[in-house]
Amino acid sequence: MEKVKLTIDNKEVEIEKNATVLQAAKKAGIDIPTLCYLKEINEVGDCRMCLVEIEGRRGFTASCIQKVEEGMKVRTNTPEVMEARRMMLDLILSNHPQDCLTCVRSGNCELQSLANQYNINEIQYKGERIEHEIDDLSPSIVRDTNKCILCRRCISTCKNVQKIGAIDCVNRGFESCISTVGNESLNNVNCTFCGQCIKACPTGALHEKEEIDNVWEKLRDEDTIVIAQTAPAVRAGIGEEFGMPIGTNAVGKMVASLKRLGFDKVFDTNTGADFTIMEEATEFVDRFTKEDNLPMITSCSPGWVRFIEKYYPDMLNHLSSCKSPHQMFGAIIKSYYAKKEGIDPSKIYVVSVMPCIAKKYEKDRPEMEVDGIRDVDAVITTRELAKMVKQANIDFVNIEDSEFDSPMGEATGAGAIFGTTGGVMEAALRTAQELITGKELEKIDFESVRGEKGIKRAEVEIAGKTIKVVVAHGLGNARTVLDEMKEGKVDYQFVEIMACPGGCIMGGGQPIKSSKTRSEVDVRKLRAKALYTIDEKSTIRKSHENPMLKKIYKDYIGEPGGELAEKLLHTTYSAKPKYDIGNE
Ligand code: SF4
Ligand code: SF4
Ligand code: SF4
Repeated sequence: MEKVKLTIDNKEVEIEKNATVLQAAKKAGIDIPTLCYLKEINEVGDCRMCLVEIEGRRGFTASCIQKVEEGMKVRTNTPEVMEARRMMLDLILSNHPQDCLTCVRSGNCELQSLANQYNINEIQYKGERIEHEIDDLSPSIVRDTNKCILCRRCISTCKNVQKIGAIDCVNRGFESCISTVGNESLNNVNCTFCGQCIKACPTGALHEKEEIDNVWEKLRDEDTIVIAQTAPAVRAGIGEEFGMPIGTNAVGKMVASLKRLGFDKVFDTNTGADFTIMEEATEFVDRFTKEDNLPMITSCSPGWVRFIEKYYPDMLNHLSSCKSPHQMFGAIIKSYYAKKEGIDPSKIYVVSVMPCIAKKYEKDRPEMEVDGIRDVDAVITTRELAKMVKQANIDFVNIEDSEFDSPMGEATGAGAIFGTTGGVMEAALRTAQELITGKELEKIDFESVRGEKGIKRAEVEIAGKTIKVVVAHGLGNARTVLDEMKEGKVDYQFVEIMACPGGCIMGGGQPIKSSKTRSEVDVRKLRAKALYTIDEKSTIRKSHENPMLKKIYKDYIGEPGGELAEKLLHTTYSAKPKYDIGNE
């Protein structure tokens, strides 16, 4: 690619011809503030925070959309530029509720940081404000349009990455706002509760529906046994909420903090993932042998399940009937574990700590219970757990590591990689291959399904047969794969789909990274590395070799896919209403 040279704040920089001034400044180590900008997702120059002066041009230019030119001379920090940014901020703040003290994003709000950086102590422009009703009808997501600064990062994420288009900008001028068609609740439109818009939002306008208060109440109740289970991805993210480097595996501190908070037991959802693999691999082997309902598609991502139920109901027969790992594990805790310990299951309160906001919706699905006992009682996100730890004044960074409680805390490396794109497929292939051939795998790593590519296609040889598999992450990529299948262009046998780009490590409940961090660091890669390292270091890396699992199947459940397994660990799906709005 042809390169050009320019100077930014008198510093020379050489960069590809099609780069923007913002990218060139980054390369030169010069920080230009942004607000609406989100790398490769929302590059629209709307908020005017990234204004710069370019020699020979009148006025200011938005650096996120201005392409570099040979010999260009750019100034990013003249008094005039800084005053223009300050004025833009003042205007935004004039239509923003001044309730930072009680806002869910206080301390991690890009607007608040910029107001501090630009020393805005008083709002200059005061005028009429429109009051919007807060949408908190859904079990997963709260939309507070009063805090919206119209940056459109959520719209671009929903429309262009997830290819849903549940939200858009409506009305004009002063009345412009982000809404759904007819200003319906997100509960009543095509939203899948993936939560990717929450992670894109720079302010508190979008956030998860918190369940912290319910959990505190149960922790205070001496008659309730409160059990926490934590998803694989949470350990790879939670340290970030306490200033630890991205990609830190903070499992020991997470478990210790949960115990300090007062949870009676802390179990590992990685073990639930091992159960899912046992059931899913068994189901796949059965379908593959009978050539029935192929390809089989994974069902452990509730955002994805809601998507297929709404958008492709005619393909529901392809979904695996397996519940997701935390639902399976909840059902096992309230049946096997309760029986073993002599506890009345109605006295157990299971709290799933998840990287996901769709799981809040999932746990409320009517199907997710056995004999009237709900599998899971509360779902809190990684961020909510961090909040509880801070409320309890626990020194997360320095707390002594602790281990999961036995016997439900013993998991394999296969369970750990569930949290990243390709992990479910890899874990399932490790087990399916040995179930089919009866022979030990020579090579346990399936590199072809790893990595960041949105759609990963691979062929795997099992017992002289070629199995075509595909892994997709992000609902835009899911749509591509399903359309290919529908048009008969492909003949896959096994498909893994995760709603969130990158899989659960990048789920809607994980720590929110600023636009700056997202453009400088590959967050997905670092968090995924933490999980692959856990797998590599595990002594047992195949779900079917988990001794605790074998014991529970032998003593209680019986065969994978058997009668009790079906009752506890499997579920059904049904078409859900889809509204004719958005991208469709
Ligand atoms: S949760 Fe997902 S589907 Fe719903 S509005 Fe946000 S990005 Fe769109
Ligand atoms: S809801 Fe958040 S991301 Fe969406 S436009 Fe408003 S401030 Fe931006
Ligand atoms: S990919 Fe993970 S975090 Fe995202 S919706 Fe699915 S289960 Fe939830």
